[in-house]
Amino acid sequence: MKKILLDELITINDINSDGVGVGKRECGKTIFVKGAVVGDVVEVGIIKESKNYDVATVENIVTPSEWRVDCDCPAFNRCGGCVYRNISYEKELELKYNIVKNALKRIGKTNAQLEGITSDSEFDYRNKVQYPISTNKNEELVFGYYANHTHEVVPHTSCKLQSDDFSRAASAFIEKAKELGMTAYDEKTGKGLLRHLVMRRTHDGKMSFMVVVNAKKLENWNVLLDAVRNSGVDVVSFSVNSNMKNTNVIVGERAEVMWGECGIVEELCGKRFSISPMSFYQVNRKMTEKLYNKVKEYAKLEKGETLLDLYCGIGTIGLCVANNDNTLVGVEIIPDAVKNAEYNAALNGRNEENTVFVCGDASVGVNTVTKKFGKCDVIIVDPPRKGLSEEVINETLRAQPKRIVYVSCNPATLARDVEIYEKNGYICESASAFDLFPRTGHVETIVCLNKQ
Ligand code: SAH
Repeated sequence: MKKILLDELITINDINSDGVGVGKRECGKTIFVKGAVVGDVVEVGIIKESKNYDVATVENIVTPSEWRVDCDCPAFNRCGGCVYRNISYEKELELKYNIVKNALKRIGKTNAQLEGITSDSEFDYRNKVQYPISTNKNEELVFGYYANHTHEVVPHTSCKLQSDDFSRAASAFIEKAKELGMTAYDEKTGKGLLRHLVMRRTHDGKMSFMVVVNAKKLENWNVLLDAVRNSGVDVVSFSVNSNMKNTNVIVGERAEVMWGECGIVEELCGKRFSISPMSFYQVNRKMTEKLYNKVKEYAKLEKGETLLDLYCGIGTIGLCVANNDNTLVGVEIIPDAVKNAEYNAALNGRNEENTVFVCGDASVGVNTVTKKFGKCDVIIVDPPRKGLSEEVINETLRAQPKRIVYVSCNPATLARDVEIYEKNGYICESASAFDLFPRTGHVETIVCLNKQ
């Protein structure tokens, strides 16, 4: 539709998870205003009308919000990463706190009080980057980030959320790939070789570098590796992942380590963890330590008790929370992560007799722990964004643990599941938010569900 200039002022009183300002028209209809931030009073042009809401762009900022800050990133608004880059970090924390509080109250219908939102440095926190590779208008290879809700690659070489090592290593790789005449994968045609660069970096600079290709193997990988190593980045592991499916999933099932170690080893909560490129690992180390300390506080694990860690990844939560006299069972669906978890248990001196990691769906956890150890005192769950399946909820209820500590990266699904637990004999007594992903639209939450 043609843009319609609205002859009323809009006050922006919220921001949605895409960073779009939200206000109300005089007629009461909700209006989403791109480019506006909470606290702005703006003149707008409507670009889309529907029954329940309108979408508009800012024409003129009449009164700028007191929380506005100058955005220091040239890719902001095009790159799909940051959402809150043009408002102060303090205001972002307040908004995220309210998002979690409202979800727990409105969706979860719980009386639990949200303790607060814990934060740390807003920049230089990401330890993992996944750059898609594409071609620009001149048919040259580029790397960057996907634009919001699209698969268009916004070239981007410096991002304050992460170390410059990532773009340095990726640039060196891309320059060499250009020299070698390599092609970028094209989702539309299913042709082309290079899909993604997946890198992870320890806090002291050791990097694992994985190339995802639309082929069974990558020719000349050693030449590319040399180029990356010559960029001055401390690469300790180089692998190639084959993904020949036409899908949104970034990595294929198997990665082959071509050179160096099987991944990186990072320190967390005074313990050491081996992390393979295919495994999940929290992206923000300092904040993860704070998060896990809170999980430990909520879990209140006593001597001799049994802990079930569902969605355990490489075993980090369970291994940080359980003492050696606690039995620990972890369940995780990615085979490489389970191997890491087993190795990490040994690396941190756990006894084989009271430590088990299982590869499978989280719903098998309760059966495993009760069959093997006869009881299940505390359960920790840390599912992906979609939350817990009915089956997992039923299994955890069947086990009747003293408490369930629920770690979540999606307040809405967390709240949905909290309501089910509260209807089934558990009370959500404590809740706490953690900003693991400053400047982005994401926020982490932990709640403690105690058996009545
Ligand atoms: N607790 C870990 C990982 C949390 S992320 C940590 O703090 O690092 C969620 C994890 O759940 C991922 O490792 C993912 O591979 C795993 N996962 C996803 N679906 C699963 C399922 N159905 N059953 C078990 N694990 C699953």
